[in-house]
Amino acid sequence: MIIRNVTVIDGQAAAPIADAEVVVTDGRFSAIRPATGAEPAAVDDFVLDARGGYLVPGLWESHTHLGGHAYFKPENERTKYLSQLLTDFLDVGVTNVVDLGGPLDIEHAVRDYRSTATDPAARLFFAGPVFTGIEGWPVLDDPKRASIAYQTDNADTAYRQALELADQVDFIKCIYDGEPGAPDKLPFEALKAIAAAAHEKGKKVLVHVHERIDLEEAVAAGADGIEHAFHPQDPGSTAEARDVAALLAETNTYYCPTLVTWEQIAYNGDAGYLQKLVDEGMATPEDLPRITGRAIYGNEFPRHSSQESRVRFDYAMRTLGLMHDAGVKFTAGSDVAMLMPSPPIALLRELKLLAEAGVPLPAVLAAGTRHSAEKIGQEATAPGTITVGSAADALLLDADPYTDIAHLVDRSHHVGTLRAGQPCWAESHPAA
Ligand SMILES: [Zn+2]
Repeated sequence: MIIRNVTVIDGQAAAPIADAEVVVTDGRFSAIRPATGAEPAAVDDFVLDARGGYLVPGLWESHTHLGGHAYFKPENERTKYLSQLLTDFLDVGVTNVVDLGGPLDIEHAVRDYRSTATDPAARLFFAGPVFTGIEGWPVLDDPKRASIAYQTDNADTAYRQALELADQVDFIKCIYDGEPGAPDKLPFEALKAIAAAAHEKGKKVLVHVHERIDLEEAVAAGADGIEHAFHPQDPGSTAEARDVAALLAETNTYYCPTLVTWEQIAYNGDAGYLQKLVDEGMATPEDLPRITGRAIYGNEFPRHSSQESRVRFDYAMRTLGLMHDAGVKFTAGSDVAMLMPSPPIALLRELKLLAEAGVPLPAVLAAGTRHSAEKIGQEATAPGTITVGSAADALLLDADPYTDIAHLVDRSHHVGTLRAGQPCWAESHPAA
């Protein structure tokens, strides 16, 4: 396949290549060159004239929980439902989905199902069960939730479990949240042991945090990525954000603020917020009754108050710009999508919020592509870039994503998606 007359934004630091020609062979990018170097197409080559278009790497959803989205489906329908969800992700330009924790049997069932399915869908990476303290988040005292976590207060046991789990998953996820020393918080020594086990197996470790002290200890324990914007002690001062930024930049630790999670918990039950989503094109009026009909709508989210979530959201929105300037690498993940029309839309909202927080647009794109791939160590196979030799995952836009975030997140600008070289164009589009 050859894509002609396109501006390539490769997702790295390089300047966009205007009037480029991109060749895809066997699911990988095999050539990216200026149009002047174009060779005549062979008879059997499919040529797409993308005049005026912008080709960016396929997007990544870097923090979701598929199992959570399937929770309310009957058990025998879950695999098929999640497979469909991966197809829905592809429809909004997301070619890779990272599941940050769920029952291992569901993850494997979905991957097995996808390995024989013929319809295109986003690729899935997963953590399986997370490590947490005894009855820690997200298990609490609900026995039904036991399969989503290893609950531990012991470093030796955690080390052995992590070694075993690492062979079955793409990366390891830990929850490091709670009163220091309390049984529901993973002990620091256990966190260190888990990180050591994962690294021994060549796997990355992502750590969910709450307070700034959690974040600092997680980095000290060897975390490769921090999940969630931390809760500041003093929301009136940017000093904590500056300190955290310096630490994350110095240790090259990725930061996934999950802005849209805090926004949704903060505004759960607020009709004005839903109207704002409609006004901004993130939801349609028809979506609203479905959203307000959900059991969680207007009800307290477990363990996270709306007031505290509001503080985390506002603080992150105010400080991500300065954290970027300090050299922090963000990743884009939406986590729960409780008030969003669908989980894929939640990722688009997260990208929009990153831009609104003052993160420059090239860094927003990197958060939704390359940095998310690097966070889980996928540079070699699916690097989240448009580079010769890498998996041909890309999103074709009809306008420049570096001039306006809407060009990336407003679906009216999406022309089509390539997943491992397989084109998925909307039927109605002229290029289809
Ligand atoms: Zn999460």
